[in-house]
Amino acid sequence: MADFIPVNEPLLQGNELAYVTECLTSGWISSEGRFVHGFEEGFSARVGRRFGIGVSNGSDALELAVAALGLGPGDDVILPAFTIISCASAVVRAGATPVLVDSDPVAWTMDPEAVRKKITSRTRAIMAVHIYGLPVDMDPVMQLAREHGLKLIEDAAEAIGLAYKGRPCGSFGDISTFSFYANKHVTTGEGGLVAVDDPALEKRCRSLRNLCFGEERFIHHGLGWNMRMTNIQAAIGLAQLESLERAIERKKRMGRRYTDLMKDIAGIKHPAAATAGAENVYWVYGLVLDDDVPFDAREAMRRLKAMGIDTRPFFWPMHEQPVFQTMGLFKGERYPVVERLARRGFYVPSGLALTDDQMQRVADGVRRLMSR
Ligand SMILES: *Cc1c(COP(=O)(O)O)cnc(C)c1O
Repeated sequence: MADFIPVNEPLLQGNELAYVTECLTSGWISSEGRFVHGFEEGFSARVGRRFGIGVSNGSDALELAVAALGLGPGDDVILPAFTIISCASAVVRAGATPVLVDSDPVAWTMDPEAVRKKITSRTRAIMAVHIYGLPVDMDPVMQLAREHGLKLIEDAAEAIGLAYKGRPCGSFGDISTFSFYANKHVTTGEGGLVAVDDPALEKRCRSLRNLCFGEERFIHHGLGWNMRMTNIQAAIGLAQLESLERAIERKKRMGRRYTDLMKDIAGIKHPAAATAGAENVYWVYGLVLDDDVPFDAREAMRRLKAMGIDTRPFFWPMHEQPVFQTMGLFKGERYPVVERLARRGFYVPSGLALTDDQMQRVADGVRRLMSR
């Protein structure tokens, strides 16, 4: 369909082509080269961290974070039920135990009070995940981590450029992770990064990323992965970083405009414009159908698709994932806020290349969907 509106289209209009061309003409196409270091330094500085370690994607970044903190069998890690599977799979793969919590009904991020209730003598770490452009309420989460001596992983994949109480997301806790997938605020196509302040932790991350190569080549004292970011990825990332502030401004404007265009439509809830700690940057623009609407998110998405509007469902809850049920995890657990979000929520086209005209057509489509 010629005028189909895709859910995400990235914007690559700065120095991306020039920098990638430099990689190709100079021959620096693997994980050595000036862009990797430049991007690691530039990105970590932007999010308020001492060190950045580029990796191949955001899921690897989480796996690396869990390994670098030494989490494993016998360790409970508290994380939200409402997130991407990468968070839980990193914990499970390390042999640690994922412990889920419900979300805040307004911000959709993990509820700090629910975290407090799940802390036991087995708890070793909290994984806080910012969701759809609003942050976790970090003050109480950091307080809990301090009080109980817990490690804190911050997944800031959806919060690049977002601030919580004036401090950049991606600077909280022991280790922060990022993704540079094509729909993130900074993209490298595929890519990721872990950010830390502690030099010992930095060293561990660099080693794990690079197969734990030791001082003596091909002598290994640990098992790592090849999670290296390429110079080509970093070249795109560095160019993206140069336009990050503009991207964030654009995202905020798009979010406010969507709200404006659709605020009088009955039967749907919009993302919160702000929480106590932050202004929404609307990484994606989510809509949640009221309970009395006689169809669910899947049906709404199907009808919008027929109008030429692409959408995506919200995350499906971790405790309802067949793969974890097969493993015997989360048996009989219920998280009502998350269960409802999963069934009633979906997001509309939110990419940086979306035009004002396309946004108007999306709003018109939602209006038609909701007219009874
Ligand atoms: C995108 C994303 C990831 C995974 O990143 P990939 O680069 O796609 O592996 C992890 N966590 C969150 C919250 C994400 O949004």
